[in-house]
Amino acid sequence: MSTQPTTPTIDNDSLEDRLYTVKYDDPGDSHLDVKVPEICADCETNDCVRVCPAEVWREGEDGVPRIAYENCLECSSCRFACEYDNVVWEYPERGGGVTFKRG
Ligand code: SF4
Ligand code: SF4
Repeated sequence: MSTQPTTPTIDNDSLEDRLYTVKYDDPGDSHLDVKVPEICADCETNDCVRVCPAEVWREGEDGVPRIAYENCLECSSCRFACEYDNVVWEYPERGGGVTFKRG
């Protein structure tokens, strides 16, 4: 009789708990930016803020998002969510970036 492996659950983990399971090697420079800040200032959807699972993008008082790139999971969601194609998205330089401890 074989024993079925148990499925790990993250249902009760907070965002902070989940982010704790990833490691980020900070290359020192942000790999994220906006192309034209004035477009963000007039943007009413803030889709970059809404789709980011790691709260990297946060609404700024002037309408231009603040970017905590150190938390980025490199999922690319913000890049494709912005209807104005106003996101600068590159992989972190010098081999930096995210490492997933749980594979
Ligand atoms: S969705 Fe695009 S235009 Fe709107 S705030 Fe985010 S980056 Fe700027
Ligand atoms: S790539 Fe993903 S985790 Fe990184 S800022 Fe964009 S939406 Fe957030």
